[in-house]
Amino acid sequence: MQLPREVIVGKGTLTRIAEVTQRLGLSGSALIIAGLKSCEVAGKEVRKLLQQTGISVDTLLVKTVTNKDILIVEEQIKKQKPQFLIGVGGGTKIDAAKLSASRQNIPFISVPTTLSHDGIASPLASVKGLDKPYSIMAQAPLAIIADTDIIAQAPWRSVISGCGDAIAKFTAVKDWQLAHEEKNEYYGEYAASLALMSAKLVMQNAKLIKSDNDEGLRVLLEALISCGVAMSIAGSSRPCSGSEHLFSHALDMIKCPHAMHGEQCGVGTVLAAYLHRTNWKRIKLTLEQIGAPTTACELNVKDKDLVKALALAATIRPERYTILQKLKLNLEACKKVAKITGVIG
Ligand SMILES: [Zn+2]
Repeated sequence: MQLPREVIVGKGTLTRIAEVTQRLGLSGSALIIAGLKSCEVAGKEVRKLLQQTGISVDTLLVKTVTNKDILIVEEQIKKQKPQFLIGVGGGTKIDAAKLSASRQNIPFISVPTTLSHDGIASPLASVKGLDKPYSIMAQAPLAIIADTDIIAQAPWRSVISGCGDAIAKFTAVKDWQLAHEEKNEYYGEYAASLALMSAKLVMQNAKLIKSDNDEGLRVLLEALISCGVAMSIAGSSRPCSGSEHLFSHALDMIKCPHAMHGEQCGVGTVLAAYLHRTNWKRIKLTLEQIGAPTTACELNVKDKDLVKALALAATIRPERYTILQKLKLNLEACKKVAKITGVIG
């Protein structure tokens, strides 16, 4: 089990990066992986703060996370031989740092600048262009430094996406329980409880999640970090990714303009909650309260493509048993579910 050793959350916490690296015994040289924007909002500051402590720092800008991008980062690691990596940005930059650091066997620090999904603290990374549309095992960050002053500057839509990804744990845990009961799959109560608690806390505090409310951002941030820890404890994405994630991956596979990961997962949670015969209406209401999409139209997907994605979802990861594999819904049944839940008109 790999767990982060330091998690620092709050306003202005970025300034503590030098203190954290010293405490962790990291010195010598570091490599920052960032995007153009995240380099401006946080990467440059990280570089300056570390240089002041005598650490030599290089920055590598990445745009996307394909296997080729990861190889470029790995080449840079081999050349420069940094003692540690720092991923500064939203999901993709942190995933690039996470995966390349893991392959090159060095630690990495996660410095999220957005809250769009649970990858900021998880041991899994999502890589585009592989035959699998879902995340693969990498390593957990050694430390997470999440500065809510920086995160508050990100587009509000990324926060909405993060809420959807947190709320998704309701049905992810239900699917895990189902796999345990029906397929005798290993079920970790501690990991499941942690993921479920994160979803519950976001639901209970939905009113606080507003752009000018630091407390609300903190709730979401801590929920997403806890989800990452739940995956580290479970040793897989099981506690955090069930049928609602399969639906989101299926939407990604259907070639249509798609929404953000957490936005898709939120709608997936409404559909999956209905199939699990649990309180889907409350989930839908909370998403609406946050301002998250709850319909195909709001996801910018055609009704027929959404139905197709729901039918496809059961087939893309056969080893992950969920309510979708149990019910084996045909296209007509998927359409009915989407209609009853008001996801399609
Ligand atoms: Zn997710």
